[in-house]
Amino acid sequence: DGLANKIAAGEVVERPASVVKELVENSIDAGSTWIKLEFEEAGLQRIKVTDNGHGMPEEDAERAFLRHATSKIKNETDLFRVNTLGFRGEALASIAAVSRLTVKTSQGESAGTYLTIEGGDVTDRSKSDARKGTEITVEDLFFNTPARLKYMKTIHTELGHITDLLNRLALSHPDIRFEALHNGKSLFKTAGTGELLQVISQVYGMSVARKMLPVKHETLDFSIEGYIAKPEVTRASRNYISTIVNGRFIKSMQLAQAINRGYHTLLPIGRSPVVVLNIEMDPILVDVNVHPTKLEVRFSKDKALFEAIENTIRDAFKQTSL
Ligand code: ADP
Ligand code: MG
Repeated sequence: DGLANKIAAGEVVERPASVVKELVENSIDAGSTWIKLEFEEAGLQRIKVTDNGHGMPEEDAERAFLRHATSKIKNETDLFRVNTLGFRGEALASIAAVSRLTVKTSQGESAGTYLTIEGGDVTDRSKSDARKGTEITVEDLFFNTPARLKYMKTIHTELGHITDLLNRLALSHPDIRFEALHNGKSLFKTAGTGELLQVISQVYGMSVARKMLPVKHETLDFSIEGYIAKPEVTRASRNYISTIVNGRFIKSMQLAQAINRGYHTLLPIGRSPVVVLNIEMDPILVDVNVHPTKLEVRFSKDKALFEAIENTIRDAFKQTSL
């Protein structure tokens, strides 16, 4: 069972950034408006995530770290109606299986729960203070899976993955205040005011934010809203195209292509724009179960969607004299 747990854990927990992703998504699911992240050595030594979400009752806290104990999917139609970020109920168990983990969690009314777990086994249980929210510390990631540990890249590379992830999370949640520290030094910060342009400014810098145009477009099925950069702000990579579908950051070559088509001849060959688009639609139209890490999705009305995106961008430039 221990071995099976460790193998299964490898599917979810690839590197420190995957731990951060799962922990922060849980904090978001818990309704947090403030999430603090602290890393030591790009998370290889320590990842600590503190939130002000609704916390867990004592009986749930321990269960949350057991494999498949909390899956929210109860039947097949649920697969198509996933509206919380997490739904597989195995992330915490996977992380706990390959690290030394402590959790403090409270719903804020009375004393909370404190647990320590080593390689998946609970080694200590007691009470914590009653601060509403959850604090999870993951230390010595992969200490018991040396093969996985060997694949970790440099601190620089692992920190790069974490930074990319934080950028995406912040862009998809302008209403949440993010605060990140690496080895005690400030790494990243957002204000949590709900202003997307402010987050864009924090992620890409003020000079880029100043060159963004707001866009807004509604069709029967889709609502598209966000910011697109004027064509003078282009990049050599598609990494500056952020597409957020129903609050979830997703990677889609096809969405990126639709965006680029919207720019049409305004975009020099080989260049990509800086774009952040929030796309809302009935969850029934999105299948998020294509890939286990949930970055990729499939759309039921894909042609109509791509066309709507292309038109949104094209129209924005028609209306603006550049
Ligand atoms: P999933 O998110 O897929 O349900 P996880 O293993 O990530 O599975 O989390 C298990 C459960 O633990 C969650 O469903 C949630 O009920 C609870 N949980 C985890 N993190 C938090 C948190 N930061 N605040 C409140 N509850 C949490
Ligand atoms: Mg989760």
